[in-house]
Amino acid sequence: MVRHSSRIELSQSSLVKNINFIRKKIGPDVRISSVVKANAYGHGIAQFVKMAEKAGVDHFATASAFEAEEVLAAKSEKGGIMIMGILYDQDIEWAIENDIEFFVFNYARLPLAMEVAKGLGKRAMVHIEVETGANRTGMNAKEFPKTLTFLKKNAAHVEFKGLCTHFGGAESFANQFKITSQHKRYKDFLRECKQKGIMPEYRHIACSAAALAMPDTVYDMVRIGVAQYGFWPSPDIYYTHLQETGKPSDGALKRIFNWKTDVMDVRDIDPGEFIGYGTSYQATQKMKVAVMPLGYSNGYPRALSNRGHVLIHGKKAPIVGLINMNLFMVDVSHIPGVEVGDEVVLVGRQKNNTINISSFTNVTQLINNEMLSRLPAAIPRKIVK
Ligand SMILES: *Cc1c(COP(=O)(O)O)cnc(C)c1O
Repeated sequence: MVRHSSRIELSQSSLVKNINFIRKKIGPDVRISSVVKANAYGHGIAQFVKMAEKAGVDHFATASAFEAEEVLAAKSEKGGIMIMGILYDQDIEWAIENDIEFFVFNYARLPLAMEVAKGLGKRAMVHIEVETGANRTGMNAKEFPKTLTFLKKNAAHVEFKGLCTHFGGAESFANQFKITSQHKRYKDFLRECKQKGIMPEYRHIACSAAALAMPDTVYDMVRIGVAQYGFWPSPDIYYTHLQETGKPSDGALKRIFNWKTDVMDVRDIDPGEFIGYGTSYQATQKMKVAVMPLGYSNGYPRALSNRGHVLIHGKKAPIVGLINMNLFMVDVSHIPGVEVGDEVVLVGRQKNNTINISSFTNVTQLINNEMLSRLPAAIPRKIVK
């Protein structure tokens, strides 16, 4: 197979550290559902699922049935899968057949799931998602009593696997008013379950931010996305952690992701010459530039034109000119001995220097999650130590 223009390396040891850190926060008895939507936040579902299983994770959450299909292909026998978002009627049979759990946020889905389950001679495993204030998906309180009645009556065909909700912005202190109210409404739903004498196997409401900073939101399961990839959900959550531990700083969460390419060409530029398209960069002195074999079509943000930098020989090389569709140039005048084929770090560490994905945010307005999740699936991902 021919070589791709860049590659992503994923650190197994960093993931193990992240999972252990999260595990310490939530305690030994809570199940972690690893959220791998958006191609595992850009890390690559196929590779990440294998890594997470090695780190002790045995449950995965996706946004869609087609992502669940990728997890199904990658996971081992014991791993569970849960679809939190889109599952079309026509795919319910596939889900039940493959023991895939799914969120239900409308009553109408229940009789449908039951019919399919009966036909297959299997049980549908449903998580009832309730509306508590995010007003995204979630069953409203009016439909809830008949839902419980249905689940009680048809337990042979439809298993009440979970009762869940999702916080709209748990990572920010400014939202605490809303989060507290959401949690209170969730407890009302739970109380109703108790009164009806039917309880879910898993109660789950916490995402990364809630699991790390709000222990009272941690029930039987947590749905962990961003934190397992080594990112604090927000400064609020990071500083809460420091305050709790009394540490001045903490590298407890480790980025597991490194994005690399190699020098495609090296060339000398005379004063007065322009670099690349247009006139956005004109050399004012003799300089040496290195050509990078990727561009915005490969996930490298165009907004970094004339502003970002890469690492070569452990030194920062500033981007000169525009990011093209499949190429960009960097200034290496100050780095001796740069040659074709030298390793280039786009995101991650090289010798004593690091480029954080969050540094892109300042320039591009892309938040970490958006930047990561947009990385093309075609970039090869490789697991390293
Ligand atoms: C994305 C998502 C999560 C994970 O959120 P993080 O903040 O990345 O941990 C959890 N639950 C639901 C419903 C989600 O959509």
